[in-house]
Amino acid sequence: MASVKLTNVKKIYGKDTVAVQDFNLDIADKEFIVFVGPSGCGKSTTLRMIAGLEDISAGTVEIDGVVVNDLQPRDRDIAMVFQNYALYPHLTVFENMAFSLRLKNVPNDIVYEKVTQAAEILGITDYLTRKPRALSGGQRQRVAIGRAMVRDSKVFLMDEPLSNLDAKLRNQMRAEIILLRQKIDTTFIYVTHDQTEAMTLGDRIVIMKDGFIQQVGTPTEVFDMPLNLFVAEFIGAPKMNTFKTNLVCEGGKYYVTPYGSKIEVTGKKAEMLKSKGITSGEIILGVRPEHFVLSNASNPGAIPCKIVVNEMMGSELHLHVLEENGDRLIVRIPTVSLDDDQRNMLTYGHTIYVTFEGKVMHFFDKDTEQNLLI
Ligand code: ADP
Repeated sequence: MASVKLTNVKKIYGKDTVAVQDFNLDIADKEFIVFVGPSGCGKSTTLRMIAGLEDISAGTVEIDGVVVNDLQPRDRDIAMVFQNYALYPHLTVFENMAFSLRLKNVPNDIVYEKVTQAAEILGITDYLTRKPRALSGGQRQRVAIGRAMVRDSKVFLMDEPLSNLDAKLRNQMRAEIILLRQKIDTTFIYVTHDQTEAMTLGDRIVIMKDGFIQQVGTPTEVFDMPLNLFVAEFIGAPKMNTFKTNLVCEGGKYYVTPYGSKIEVTGKKAEMLKSKGITSGEIILGVRPEHFVLSNASNPGAIPCKIVVNEMMGSELHLHVLEENGDRLIVRIPTVSLDDDQRNMLTYGHTIYVTFEGKVMHFFDKDTEQNLLI
């Protein structure tokens, strides 16, 4: 059992560098929580306050209902994996993993059992007698995770554990962390700047900016209903297209009019606009690249634009296009149904017409940048 609760947590470095503020979060036992946001937004500071590696300027951190603000890191029953694995170069993999148990004078047979069990789960049994320098980056990261695992801690903290690995290995280790999570029954708090890691690993994601929480939700919630423009643009890759346009309410129906087109808002989004009593006016509209579709000049909802970059990703094309006013949009087109003529047209310099469905739009206030439907 290990729940973690942060209440009004604040961190000020020195006199006036406010790194984290108004941080309130209830983490359930065995939940996998991810803190995500751009560099400098306060993710690591928050994690380090939970670990006890950083003083808490105000507020409380509780683990299982006990306030731990004044407890030493070793008394908090947590394990932490850092970005730089910090293995001892002169010790074998086995002894690196056993290190914390040796410090506690745990009997040899139990050390053996715990280390071999963790090694088995992580697939590093064959390397137990090697020194860290004889391991690849991914194997070293596994040892660092193993070293944290043997401690049977209540809470497992991970600070950008994959960011030193190359892209391929990072994807592989990400899947392994998901498997690991199924095998060790504990509460995870994971820090990353990478939205893909956050989306794939987290039961819930905490999106941060400038020391403040922007939104807490499941991956689906933050993707489908971003609370504000920052979250909308941060979650999802390539990022959501956002642009100022008019929302028009006419005869009980809503329309948007981006770049001279006219597209009806349909489905749940239209109902929500109505129930919120939203009237005509300028808004910021958000459309994800995958929600654009190819269209033609005769469609009043079509936006003419010119392709400036075409990125062939294999199963899809990412087209960077300029509409007539010079705004740049990103359009994602699946390649599976394209014929050769279409493929030839979807290249640099060609003009295409794009549109999007009425049910996939996101609406933000042009001043506050908050989602108008929440
Ligand atoms: P993140 O993990 O999201 O990249 P950090 O938590 O490391 O962000 O940093 C949050 C803010 O606190 C940043 O503005 C950073 O410069 C500042 N900061 C972090 N550590 C210190 C420190 N030891 N002394 C002073 N400022 C710090």
